[in-house]
Amino acid sequence: MPDKLFDTVVVGAGFSGIGFAYHIKRKKIDNFIILEQAQDIGGVWRENTYPGAACDAPSHLYSYSFATRFPWSSRFAPQREIHNYLKQCADSFGLGKHIRFGIKIISASYIETTGTWLLETQDHETYFCKALVWAVGQLNRPKIPNIPGQDTAGHISFHSAEWRHDVDLNGKKVAVIGTGSSAVQFAPRIAKLANALTIFQRSPGYIRPKPDLTYTPKQMALLNAFPILRKLDRLKFYIVNEYRFLTFEDEKRNRLAQAGFRASLSRQVPDQNLQSQLTPDYPLGCKRGLPSNEWLPMFSQSHVTLETGRISEVKPHGIRMDDGRMHPTDVIIYATGFKTTAFLEPIIIKGRNGLPLAHKWEAGAQAYLGMTVSHFPNMFILYGPNTNLGHTSVVYMLESQFRYISKAISHLLKGHRSMDVLEEVENRYNMDLQAKLAKTVMVTGGCTSWFKNEAGKVINNWPGFSFLYRWRTRRFNPGDYRID
Ligand code: NAP
Repeated sequence: MPDKLFDTVVVGAGFSGIGFAYHIKRKKIDNFIILEQAQDIGGVWRENTYPGAACDAPSHLYSYSFATRFPWSSRFAPQREIHNYLKQCADSFGLGKHIRFGIKIISASYIETTGTWLLETQDHETYFCKALVWAVGQLNRPKIPNIPGQDTAGHISFHSAEWRHDVDLNGKKVAVIGTGSSAVQFAPRIAKLANALTIFQRSPGYIRPKPDLTYTPKQMALLNAFPILRKLDRLKFYIVNEYRFLTFEDEKRNRLAQAGFRASLSRQVPDQNLQSQLTPDYPLGCKRGLPSNEWLPMFSQSHVTLETGRISEVKPHGIRMDDGRMHPTDVIIYATGFKTTAFLEPIIIKGRNGLPLAHKWEAGAQAYLGMTVSHFPNMFILYGPNTNLGHTSVVYMLESQFRYISKAISHLLKGHRSMDVLEEVENRYNMDLQAKLAKTVMVTGGCTSWFKNEAGKVINNWPGFSFLYRWRTRRFNPGDYRID
């Protein structure tokens, strides 16, 4: 028998890996490890250190319901606090002895005869496990567009998720490409440093006010002392955010919300030409909404330019547009998002009869409840296909998965060799899910978004209220699986 055989291997020590580990410990499964490629826990909250990085969901909601006590300094906590919160959780859950750092998994193969998974690392180590849980996230592989000249023009350039803190932006001419969640957080901060800031926008987003609040020492003390206050705050924002989903399905509500956006835009941006450039041509909810109080006013500063034309190439002295105009540039920051639709890549995963997961997912990733994939027995995915949300905290979705997967693994470890979701169950679930998505603005809105693959199929997002997902995953039903 191999020497490194674990009941469960969790790959990744971010929000999903840490929270899941808490749940399997509660199920009295102690023979597990978490393999983390970096030297620290935290996932995206370790990686994204750009200026202004903060949660855009309120922290009492964007935290585990089973670990609510943390001295958040504000309603929407900054990145460093969220990272510290996860470290505190890992400590208090007793995960230290279970986490191994610096271990990068490059392949995983299912061994039919033993019902185990064989994992190979970049350093040619091997691990074996009965249950394999992927907790690698959806937003961890930066995407940089191919722009002619970008590698040869000699500019300093970096992606928002790989922030170069050694590059001093004071007095520089800075170009920011992309206007998503990351850009709206950091661009207003660097506008305070740069001599000139040009924002290259392909399509504008719906900006909404961010009801941020810095807690006073007294408020912090009260929140710390009374768990009920934290729970009430969590509940309040949960309800407010769920309500937001109604606009994704109902045209009338959506138009009302768009009118609200336009009114807010005209208050914050007096220039009518800028207003029209900053107004989306798709319904609200088609892309992720962007909470910010700083983004729109930023464009009224004389050294900030909004560029909506097409970039043609990067030249040594700046960025050239299709129509020949030049934007002098010293530093280029790509806020162009992540490779979101190639789930689990570039890890090579082979299931029953050596079937590559990449083949199974040729037409787009899909899974049963976003967690299990037929022909890939004993394998579970956290934050998998169609489990992302555009309207509220994804931690709520993760908690539904923690419960479901820990129940499934407990069942598997009761002496079963394998547990494989039935293909017809998986397909029926996904047909139903896509039919529901087809009624939402995520599909009908006609925009491009990171929720969709190249064929235009929404493979990242859940189509409804988050409590419906909680309801759907409340029980592990062995009848959905072939269990040997
Ligand atoms: P993003 O939302 O995918 O935005 C990427 C931006 O880059 C978009 O404006 C996109 O334009 C633009 N873009 C992409 N390729 C381009 C190209 N070739 N040329 C010009 N523009 C291009 O990425 P992100 O801002 O990094 O955010 C990703 C996700 O991370 C968010 O949606 C959110 O879920 C998460 N996030 C969360 C927080 C938080 O506080 N919790 C903070 C940051 C990020 P188009 O819109 O036209 O495609």
